[in-house]
Amino acid sequence: MLKITREQIGRLIKLQQIETDKKRIKATLENLPDQLAELDTGLDRAEKAVNNKKTLLKDYEQKYRSYESDTEINRTKIKKSEEKLGFAKNNKEYQSSLKEIHELKNKNSKIEDDMIECLDRAEEIERDIKSRKEDYNKIGKKINIEKNIIKNQAKNDEHKLLELHAERANIIESVQKDLIEKFFIIQKKQTNGIAIAKAKNSICYGCNMNIPPQMYNDLQRCDSLKFCPFCDRILYWEQEKTDNAV
Ligand SMILES: [Zn+2]
Repeated sequence: MLKITREQIGRLIKLQQIETDKKRIKATLENLPDQLAELDTGLDRAEKAVNNKKTLLKDYEQKYRSYESDTEINRTKIKKSEEKLGFAKNNKEYQSSLKEIHELKNKNSKIEDDMIECLDRAEEIERDIKSRKEDYNKIGKKINIEKNIIKNQAKNDEHKLLELHAERANIIESVQKDLIEKFFIIQKKQTNGIAIAKAKNSICYGCNMNIPPQMYNDLQRCDSLKFCPFCDRILYWEQEKTDNAV
């Protein structure tokens, strides 16, 4: 049976705190590239939205030019038909040219309506692009700020990690060797890396199981190392509060 003191247990609790903090900080730092990439994804999406609208605008501009050239062709045809009017040999030819001119003018009138609609739509898209560009700039600025915050946090985390590392080394040196060895063996076996758990109100806070009464009494003396019979973690006793607070 390993003899212990409250002080030694206190150091193990501190060591556990350091181990947990280190794990959390390391996970945050490991997640850093993903976090930054995720922010860039937001900006990429905004850029894509602008580009999609630009493509749509080009389609409408092309459509407009095509209408323009159609009306131009029709106008040339109208001119020719009007010339033909002057050379009509009889009424039939005359009427036929008139009909042609009428039909071509009708066609052009329809196309011109479409052109107006096309222009309206293009203007609408241009406004949309402008507002999306503003969004893009806003997002870009916001992302830069967020990136700086994350990077600063990472710097702090790295610094904190170094501090924890030094503190950890000090604690390891100040605790008896066999106790430390036991601590790390148990830690390795626990999926959450928690090697030491408090026992309070007869419950192991590592696994939430009830500790046998005799063991719970022994724990309160804090003179030998005790393990939870269910989760194998090192146990330490924490005094119950009178208000039953957990
Ligand atoms: Zn337990």
